[in-house]
Amino acid sequence: MTDTAAGRLGPVYRPKALPASKQRSLAGRYALPIQLLSLIAFAWAFAGWLNETYLFWWDNPIWLNRYTEYAIILGFGIWRITAERNPYTRRRLTVLVACVTVLWWLIPWLLPFFEPYIGYLGSQAIFPSLHTPGTLTFFLVLGAVLLFGRRVICGWGCPCVGIRETVGFPFRHVTPRGKWAWRLRYSKWIFFALYMAAIVVLLFPPNSWSVTYMGIFALLVALPYFASMLLSPLIGSRGYCRYLCPYGATFGALNRVGFYRIEFDGGSCNDCGVCSHVCDMGIPVLALGRGKGKIDVADCMGCGRCVSECARNSLAFRDARNLLVEARRDRAWLRDWAAGRLTRARWHLVAFAGLLVLIAAGSWLAHGAVGSAFELSTNLWSALCLSS
Ligand code: SF4
Ligand code: SF4
Ligand code: SF4
Repeated sequence: MTDTAAGRLGPVYRPKALPASKQRSLAGRYALPIQLLSLIAFAWAFAGWLNETYLFWWDNPIWLNRYTEYAIILGFGIWRITAERNPYTRRRLTVLVACVTVLWWLIPWLLPFFEPYIGYLGSQAIFPSLHTPGTLTFFLVLGAVLLFGRRVICGWGCPCVGIRETVGFPFRHVTPRGKWAWRLRYSKWIFFALYMAAIVVLLFPPNSWSVTYMGIFALLVALPYFASMLLSPLIGSRGYCRYLCPYGATFGALNRVGFYRIEFDGGSCNDCGVCSHVCDMGIPVLALGRGKGKIDVADCMGCGRCVSECARNSLAFRDARNLLVEARRDRAWLRDWAAGRLTRARWHLVAFAGLLVLIAAGSWLAHGAVGSAFELSTNLWSALCLSS
């Protein structure tokens, strides 16, 4: 067992712990009408996507298109932000709802400009493409995840968490826990493999086979995304993020090799188990802390509930910022650098940069589809001219 002195970590990355009497994130039971309202909102978001993508009942009115989901998140988000009693979670929800409203709804709706992309089968609007393989925005997100963990997107910016933490809040208490629910987490690596295959497909010029594959892949992502919302009364609000999301798996892999983790101070912990109980991803936080001295699993999306609810201050975030603060105190990394020794941090950066270069170069060699900063600025300018 490794116990890490949490006091060694900078206080900046440890949200203020709540005393036991004020813990707020334990999932409660909600009245049936509230649960029904949530299910109707989920179904409405699903219908908006179906209408715009496959069924075309109406000509994409604002109340029934892909932006309908974001309007629902805003409405339920205001309710959740005002009702939330954990200050850290309230701040996170405020940022999350603001990100979804501005980055995923207002900007793409009002300014539908395009970003440079790498080998994609057609153009994508810039902000909705955060999850799209091969777009520059996506690679920027990958870089941020490497440095700060999955929380930069899954915790604070993804519409999926946006809708599940606002509309799906009444179903937190049914989150499956226990041995089998935890073992089942490996299923997401199947979707991850399909996603990696999609990236490889995108490196080559489109043909009928690759277009079919990308179509099937898009369906495999979108249908479970909405279906898992409707199944929330049975599988909790995070079923998709836990077991199915290929992007979450990608970010989770970077959680493992990147700088992010939660450290555990076994000396101060009193084994109350609150940290495990508040985790909507069903992560056995206490058991991992006791076993490894840290929570560094791919599943942690960095919501901070466990950290902020621990009344004993036994958990603390750690990411690239801690490395810099510690590096300022201890200049050993400079001596290593001068002596040409590759430290762990440098290995990470070299491997990640190499991966990006490989994908970009492969795509460019295959069909010259790498966009440029000039292309982006031209598109931006045209969009601004059109909207004025
Ligand atoms: S796991 Fe996937 S769907 Fe869930 S928050 Fe992360 S990126 Fe979004
Ligand atoms: S880390 Fe220990 S003290 Fe803190 S919430 Fe978990 S079990 Fe309780
Ligand atoms: S381990 Fe903690 S930070 Fe990670 S998902 Fe669970 S509650 Fe959130």
